[in-house]
Amino acid sequence: MMRRIGVLTSGGDAPGMNAAIRAVVRGSTAYGVEVIGIRHGYAGLISGDFVPLGPRDVANTIQRGGTVLLSARSLDFYTPAGRAQAAANAHAAGIEGLVAIGGDGTYQGAWRLWEEHQIPVICAPGTIDNDLCGTDETIGFDTAVNVATEAIDRIRDTAASHERVFFIEVMGRHTGFIALAVGIAGGAEVIALPERVPQPEQVARTIRDAQARGKLSAIVVVAEGAFPGGAQALMQAVHPLLGVKSWVTILGHIQRGGSPTAKDRVLASRLGTAAVEALLDGKAGLAVGVVNHQIHFTPLEIAACSCKLIDPHLVTLAQVLAL
Ligand code: ATP
Repeated sequence: MMRRIGVLTSGGDAPGMNAAIRAVVRGSTAYGVEVIGIRHGYAGLISGDFVPLGPRDVANTIQRGGTVLLSARSLDFYTPAGRAQAAANAHAAGIEGLVAIGGDGTYQGAWRLWEEHQIPVICAPGTIDNDLCGTDETIGFDTAVNVATEAIDRIRDTAASHERVFFIEVMGRHTGFIALAVGIAGGAEVIALPERVPQPEQVARTIRDAQARGKLSAIVVVAEGAFPGGAQALMQAVHPLLGVKSWVTILGHIQRGGSPTAKDRVLASRLGTAAVEALLDGKAGLAVGVVNHQIHFTPLEIAACSCKLIDPHLVTLAQVLAL
């Protein structure tokens, strides 16, 4: 039976990471297991930046965005020497298992730590991008989608009042999960995804068709990686073909901050606790997720492969509902 486990957050912060840390701490306490918080992600594992965490230490954190353990990107952890130092520190601190919360890079680092040094690791998906396999949704995705949808609702008021076209850039360098969800929820006329690189002529035609059907304004949701130069460049390419006043809003980091939605808090609570139970069960080298409402485990090397695909039915649905 493990007596002490570590928990860290790594890569980009995501709302709900604190709820996951809290679940790891309190889930462990319920089994009589101690928790060591590792600050600054893998960088803190290499420098030995450890802090004991008891149930009271995570009080009043479930509703807070960001991560109380702080996050970082660590170049040293890419090197075998850096990972060896991290493993040595973990052994010296009596850390017998690790929960790493983050995105695909975090998963890859965790997998190497397990492969090379046999430190049992379970990863939980903490990223707003929803681009990890082995889970229907990642911690932070729902919050990001809700924040961006609310912003679009506000922008639409201006777009409708002044009969304008708005290009709204949301996060998503490599995948369009946020853009697709936000586009459907916000009733966008056009959704530009990295998976379906938009042609300016096509975007202009879609907007002109919408105008011909009586629409006075249009919202174009653009994932940041959908077009070289993002929403600004796409607007500049489309504008001459349209002749209607067009505006650009880049939502940026407001999508990543703020209080997590109830859905993200519940997801993080389930995944944090399940990660602890998996370690105590002798599982390792796995990512925990929720698939079809059930807790699900996937080998880290598969979960980190960035092979999750957007649902083509949702792309069609968005087009149909923009009529
Ligand atoms: P996000 O999706 O929000 O960007 P992420 O977890 O993918 O989060 P990264 O910066 O890619 O963020 O990875 C976090 C850290 O994980 C890196 O700074 C590095 O320390 C470690 N890491 C990433 N990839 C590897 C790898 N191939 N080998 C070893 N460590 C890695």
